[in-house]
Amino acid sequence: MILGTFLSKDRQFAGIVKGETIFATAYTDVQELIKAGKKADLNSVGEYHFSELELLSPIPNPDRDIICLGINYAAHAVESARFENKAFGGERPCPIYFSKRVDTAVPHNGIVDGHFDIVDSLDYEAELAVIIGKTAKNVKPENAFDYVFGYTILNDISARNLQTAHKQWYLGKSLDAFTPIGPYIVTTDEFSNPPALAIKSYVNGELRQNSCTDKLIFDIPYIIADLSRGMTLQPGTIISTGTPDGVGMGFVPPRFLQKGDEVICEIDGIGKLRNIIG
Ligand code: MG
Repeated sequence: MILGTFLSKDRQFAGIVKGETIFATAYTDVQELIKAGKKADLNSVGEYHFSELELLSPIPNPDRDIICLGINYAAHAVESARFENKAFGGERPCPIYFSKRVDTAVPHNGIVDGHFDIVDSLDYEAELAVIIGKTAKNVKPENAFDYVFGYTILNDISARNLQTAHKQWYLGKSLDAFTPIGPYIVTTDEFSNPPALAIKSYVNGELRQNSCTDKLIFDIPYIIADLSRGMTLQPGTIISTGTPDGVGMGFVPPRFLQKGDEVICEIDGIGKLRNIIG
């Protein structure tokens, strides 16, 4: 099932996407639908054509900061180390977790504010984001997918100068409009476990990232088991699993984003998340 959040003339709602037809539900966004424990048996309370609606991010206002994985693809670990003039040791005993604040998630076709008054090295990171569907505590890896509602695409926009100036990445990842999420959330029944999906990004039509979500160093069962051992994950929690190689800082010299650039992040089975740098 493909779920999105839409705005019509008179209201905002979570809708089921079937081609060009959108079936409205009684929930104001997909996060509310997830928190209500809904996946099947969703009643439609109205029917629209896609062209009548404005598409919002499926979770426009996440309840909590997004949990992100850092350096979770081996080839990206190598390019990140090179950017910081360090050697990559190759061993990673534990995942790197960090947090990304999102006030309002930017939708498909939305503008990403580059904050160029304080940012000189704006970068893109195409990522598979996991949406938790039910309260997860002490989950065993073999049961982890029971707790996943679905998947979406997240562009972990990053200000490299702020990310490296501060000891922690929080500020450099959390400026307003730094988190495009969408276009939709696709439920797990549409995918195999674990999902092995082509993941790509394009800047102004040029392919930059080209990998597969089966190359995660720490996979989805590991992440959910590891986090939920001592930390309760509530329904609607967003976990962004990290980005593959090919980000702007990975090039020599680096190729950072400029005002007016078009960035498209694409994951097979979920779609394309297109944004313009403003
Ligand atoms: Mg990232």
